[in-house]
Amino acid sequence: MARIVMKFGGTSMAGTERIRRVAGIVKRQQEAGHEVAVVVSAMAGETDRLVNFCREANALYDPAEYDVVVASGEQVTSGLLALTLQAMGCKARSWLGWQLPIKTDDAHAKARIEDFDSEALLASMAAGEIAVIPGFQGVSPDNRITTLGRGGSDTSAVAVAAAVKADRCDIYTDVDGVYTTDPRIVAKARKLPLVTYEEMLELASVGSKVLQTRSVSLAMKENVRVQVLSSFIDENAPAADTLPGTMIVSDEELEGSDMERQLITGIAADKNEAKVTLTRVPDRPGAVAAIFAPLAESNINVDMIIQNVAKDKGETDVTFTVPQADLVRAQSLLEERKEAIGYYRMIADSNVAKISVVGVGMRSHAGVASTMFKTLADRGINIIAISTSEIKVSVLIDTDETELAVRVLHTAYGLDAAA
Ligand code: ASP
Ligand code: MG
Repeated sequence: MARIVMKFGGTSMAGTERIRRVAGIVKRQQEAGHEVAVVVSAMAGETDRLVNFCREANALYDPAEYDVVVASGEQVTSGLLALTLQAMGCKARSWLGWQLPIKTDDAHAKARIEDFDSEALLASMAAGEIAVIPGFQGVSPDNRITTLGRGGSDTSAVAVAAAVKADRCDIYTDVDGVYTTDPRIVAKARKLPLVTYEEMLELASVGSKVLQTRSVSLAMKENVRVQVLSSFIDENAPAADTLPGTMIVSDEELEGSDMERQLITGIAADKNEAKVTLTRVPDRPGAVAAIFAPLAESNINVDMIIQNVAKDKGETDVTFTVPQADLVRAQSLLEERKEAIGYYRMIADSNVAKISVVGVGMRSHAGVASTMFKTLADRGINIIAISTSEIKVSVLIDTDETELAVRVLHTAYGLDAAA
């Protein structure tokens, strides 16, 4: 017997028919002899709809009241799933965020989980009851409803799994696992049986939207084994216990498996970055600090930075990237400080994409970056900026070349599935 937390996303919960399918999957896990808790999302599109109501009611909405409204989507699906399970003869009950309780801080609309008392939940599971928990919601220190940020049900599921010391947290979604790259771009993309937490974090942060990034950090910190798998399966599909999806595991567990692995695990593309260049910035101590300090204070995340060596005039160009959503704000902050920084012109460009190759194999092998540069050069793709971490190399290129770049790199690193 194992203890398993199952999480179902919005597309899996969209309507009575689909909820019945979910209930069937849950029931089969219980019949296999496991203790189960289920975490659910709101029906697909529902959270967007609720967010819109808040905007219509009051453009400058109070985040505490926003949370009251948007948390309701998950309350509906958790009750409906409990009802459906009961109709199938299972013992089931819902546990709202404040009933467990899932205690968070008071950062409404983006709260962090602080404490989770699992006693009541464990007792109910031990009594053979299926616990159904609405994702996304918690309760603040002053007893108000909070939500964990968009996509937060993944984080709820991992937090529940950590609290009840689950053997596995199965995240059921509309894809059947994590792929070497987006299968819509590269038909020969392969499903990965195993990915490490760090690889998943890098892939999630550069645009592969399978899991909320925060859920992966939490899983890494709490050592929760997470499986991503599809809920769109029939009764003859392989059981979740045979790990048909992608398992997200620690480095040690990966090393312990005898899996043949490529040097590179995956390739991600992110079109949500924008590039800013400031020309003729004076080459003196403090000039760069004057550019980035106001951005940091306004919580604008700068990713790639290039500063050229100064020419004889004692001036240099500085180029960097920010999220596209923050571009206008960044421009106006820098415009205001034009005199103080002392640059000549500001040039912004949103037609850029960041392509990243990710893999823990990079730690012990040289040449990953040079393969990337050579492969892109052979196709005449120009590299605007470069950044690296221990397990990732990213380049900034023209958006129009995104698909081509991903395809040629996928082949160059030997990731293509056999035809
Ligand atoms: N329903 C919430 C959202 O759409 C939370 C989630 O589904 O993870 O962001
Ligand atoms: Mg999601």
